Amino acid sequence: MSRARFRTERDCAKAGLWPDVDPATTLIERRLAAVEEVLCSLPDSAWSQLIERAGSLCWYLPCPLLLGQVLPVAPSTGSKQPRVIYLSPLLEQQDLAWSITTAAHELAHVVLGHRLGLLDAETNAQQEAEAQTAIRQWGFQPEASRMLADLTSATPFA
Ligand SMILES: [Zn+2]
Repeated sequence: MSRARFRTERDCAKAGLWPDVDPATTLIERRLAAVEEVLCSLPDSAWSQLIERAGSLCWYLPCPLLLGQVLPVAPSTGSKQPRVIYLSPLLEQQDLAWSITTAAHELAHVVLGHRLGLLDAETNAQQEAEAQTAIRQWGFQPEASRMLADLTSATPFA
């Protein structure tokens, strides 16, 4: 992939947006590569909105070998409700495009300040469409198209 990068992994870590993962954790390589690709190439406008949420946002990239785990929940900062972005271990078995599309899509929900939880169908459909529009605008259309071409069933993320 030859997408422009506007910041480094170190910049993302300094901003508090890098996944808090144990270096010894295995089987998360593809998801971590996707998080790096998305965070480092996110346009500045989206990045600015994201760093406002840095203290109340964390990634969850569970190792598939773990049967259970307890993690600290990010403290609530002001009116910002904490958010956890889950990236399934199943993504490790798919093309990198799936991890990039999923990471960008879920991040879009955060950047756009979407409502979470049980939603009416109309609101849900609108938010999903807005998230897909955002990832196209951010430059992740090639990966999104690749993933959707691979899919034969309903969209696996929400
Ligand atoms: Zn979604």
